[in-house]
Amino acid sequence: MSALTINQVQYVSSLQCYVCVINKASELQKQQQLFLQQPPQQQQQQQSTDADDNKELEPTAFDTPKIICRGCKMQRYCSLQHLVEDQAHRDFCRVLIDLQKSQNIAHPLLLAGPLLGRAQLQQAIAQLMLAVRVKLRRLLTRRECELIGYPGFCVVCYRLEPLTACTGCAGVAYCSAEHRRLDCCNHTPAVCRTLALYYSPYRLLSNKLDIVQLKQRSDLEHSHLVEAFYAATEIRIDSQPWRSLEQYERFAACSSFSGIASLCLALTHISFVAAPREILSVYVVGAQDLHRSYFQQMHLKFFFLQYPDICQLEVYFIGHKLLARAGEEVLTFMQGGCQRKVVLCTFPKTFERFAKTHKVDPVLIIIYNPDFAAMDTLTEGIVERKYPHAVQPSEQDDYSWHGCLLETLYTYGVPICFTSPTKMQARSDLNCVNVLARGHKIAIQRVYNCTENPYREILPQHNPCPDDDETVIYANNYLEVVFTSIQC
Ligand SMILES: [Zn+2]
Ligand SMILES: [Zn+2]
Ligand SMILES: [Zn+2]
Ligand SMILES: [Zn+2]
Repeated sequence: MSALTINQVQYVSSLQCYVCVINKASELQKQQQLFLQQPPQQQQQQQSTDADDNKELEPTAFDTPKIICRGCKMQRYCSLQHLVEDQAHRDFCRVLIDLQKSQNIAHPLLLAGPLLGRAQLQQAIAQLMLAVRVKLRRLLTRRECELIGYPGFCVVCYRLEPLTACTGCAGVAYCSAEHRRLDCCNHTPAVCRTLALYYSPYRLLSNKLDIVQLKQRSDLEHSHLVEAFYAATEIRIDSQPWRSLEQYERFAACSSFSGIASLCLALTHISFVAAPREILSVYVVGAQDLHRSYFQQMHLKFFFLQYPDICQLEVYFIGHKLLARAGEEVLTFMQGGCQRKVVLCTFPKTFERFAKTHKVDPVLIIIYNPDFAAMDTLTEGIVERKYPHAVQPSEQDDYSWHGCLLETLYTYGVPICFTSPTKMQARSDLNCVNVLARGHKIAIQRVYNCTENPYREILPQHNPCPDDDETVIYANNYLEVVFTSIQC
């Protein structure tokens, strides 16, 4: 298998050959490097017409791989050679073999009984996730989650074989042409395009496009991500971005503006004075390293484009999962005839700890896609209670959102903005906020609530919760802004 150095987590459709997709991605990565060696202006201006020169890059219709791993019966390969090459699959596969033996079942997905419908499938998936995690004594990789959470089965009759994947996306499978036909009202061209994008090998690459010149600002309250991105960059987004590397890069770059654009949108609902000499400080609470990619220079330029009166911005990334960085990063550049300065500071600690040693004085707090109900901790709790020796204790074990969120709610009079990828999570987050506030005599005022954030990311993701209605989700899809104060 080709060595691929990628920033993003690897996942592949369970209906594709894992090795083939990784090989394809590493081939694309080489092309990406060549593309990036061109001057930035040229990258931006290169029109979609040159996609003709890249015909060989276009993915052809997906063929369903013929070989299914005989052990787990879930991983597929195009050839025996690729099966043998895939060493990383062995441990995981071994666990599924043992499980089938000990439970005397013919397929891991029969763990909760015969598959008769959606409910049984979701139950089997949930049990399987837990069982494998306990046996492996570690969190599942993204690849393993995808394989168990979104396995191959006929979406009409839940049969596990024989299966033919949809040639357009490799995201769903059918036992027969008849069942494919029956599903056409669910698997619409739009759904197929979304899944094709989700499973495109480009998704394994990290986005590298850097946009230097930004042009027009937008009326953010009456626009959306693609439109505001076009106004700012004059780059058009293709509806089938997996057809060429350039198109994909543009699409992913546009998606990456979601973080800063959501922040700008939240600010439109808050009255604050943007005095040129004043520093606007934003706290990204519960920050992870991936959130830093929302604050590259091009995103910061987008910010100043929308708020031309602000000249100085300070962004504090505060989160215990952040990697430590030496010092702060200072960016200065000219934009709109004015010198702009941005200071990016990283605090690899919880907000609770941060507040003990720093003066807390932000203009806005933003929390990107948190999970206040802490599903991770919850599952961890279940695993520990059921199987006390299964999970190795780690230094993060005592961590919960509770302390952090409470500290955030104590930041009276400052707008607190949080985004969520799913409706369920958005509701649960707000519920956590309300419960915690009530318990500590904090009043909550909801100032803005957006159930379809026009500045959500446009790159689809799979919902990690298998029993949720929304299977395809988008980061920052739900947006909520609240103020807190002492309850009278
Ligand atoms: Zn292969
Ligand atoms: Zn296997
Ligand atoms: Zn079927
Ligand atoms: Zn499809």
